[in-house]
Amino acid sequence: MENRRPLIAGNWKMYKTCPEAVDTIAKLKELVDGVTTVDIMITPAFTALSQVAETVAGSNIQVGAQNLSWHDEGAYTGEISGSMIVSAGCTHVIIGHSERRQYFNETDATVNQRIMAAIRHKLVPVFCVGETEAEREADATCSVLDKQVTDGLQGIALEDLADLVIAYEPVWAIGTGKTATSEQAQEVHHYVRGQLEKAYGAGFAQSVRILYGGSVKPANIAELMSMADVDGALVGGASLDAETFSQIVKY
Ligand code: PEP
Repeated sequence: MENRRPLIAGNWKMYKTCPEAVDTIAKLKELVDGVTTVDIMITPAFTALSQVAETVAGSNIQVGAQNLSWHDEGAYTGEISGSMIVSAGCTHVIIGHSERRQYFNETDATVNQRIMAAIRHKLVPVFCVGETEAEREADATCSVLDKQVTDGLQGIALEDLADLVIAYEPVWAIGTGKTATSEQAQEVHHYVRGQLEKAYGAGFAQSVRILYGGSVKPANIAELMSMADVDGALVGGASLDAETFSQIVKY
């Protein structure tokens, strides 16, 4: 039997100044104090990482970044490296979020390089995959996910994937208020786990956490989490408010 501890992660995207981030995280810390059955992780903007990490130090909340460079250092103006986010207090990093794929030319190849960089820096990669509405309507969900997962993990040794987290986020459900039904989420999570089993074996497939993301809120988290292959959630909009996010954490 698998031993996949649920992970509820909040993606703050490009919201919150430093004081706003500290205010929200301080409230969240109080609200989720004593929660021991799930892992909790928040990804603030780069600018607020250090202060948020200092605020949650010693608590049950972990901190992640929303992206990282695939370079370790160098003349890459505007980029942020793995060691920089580690030194700011991060343990996790989101990679390949659909907003980066959509608006910032992220490709499966650059996702692959970023996952390798995360592994080099001992960060937990939260690797996002998901199909667009057009791809789902064209019945291409499985082939899109196959390519994203295969290309994203290309050339990475199994032993380096031990901490990997996958986030299935159907693009049509992100920020739209449309949530995949729990059955739709389960079907895709089960499919992805099956593909991982073919590629890496049952041991890995049964241990890897697959989060669902896309308009998760207090009203739908329990049903999503009741699905056998849903191991947590990546929450955007509903993570911005401490009270709302705490209700999701305590589903
Ligand atoms: C996300 O940003 O990863 C996300 C799922 O957003 P939302 O919850 O707002 O749909």
